[in-house]
Amino acid sequence: MGKENYKLNKRISNRRYPLRKCKKPECKEDFVPSDSRQIYCCEQHRIDFNNDKRKLKEAINIFFLKSANSNRAILKKIKTSAFYKKHGYAYKFLLDYEGYDFTIYHCIIINKKTGREVQVCFDYTLELIDAVEEFFSINNTLDYDL
Ligand SMILES: [Zn+2]
Repeated sequence: MGKENYKLNKRISNRRYPLRKCKKPECKEDFVPSDSRQIYCCEQHRIDFNNDKRKLKEAINIFFLKSANSNRAILKKIKTSAFYKKHGYAYKFLLDYEGYDFTIYHCIIINKKTGREVQVCFDYTLELIDAVEEFFSINNTLDYDL
């Protein structure tokens, strides 16, 4: 870039920033930022966007909690069933049938005795004890009702 071009570009960018899309998704307005960090067309849209973000975060939390509570109820139901008491394991199809969501858990820990992954759901744990037959073991770590 020649020296003259550089001067010209610099003068333009000093004078005004290029048009920008407001970060609030529903806003269709292009605006000229008065500052390079300005990402909303106006103060109200900044507030709206942050409120929407907060509502989304709350919705995600509620979704997780609902799913986790549902998982816990299923683990409790199966763990206290006559079949489980007799055999000490549960079939995967039963968990599926009850609507257990394997993607929702609080954390995964490793069972030091078996070396296997264990899904933790509140005070319950779920461990695949036979991958071929798809048997799961369910345990209640605290052994009390929440
Ligand atoms: Zn806007």
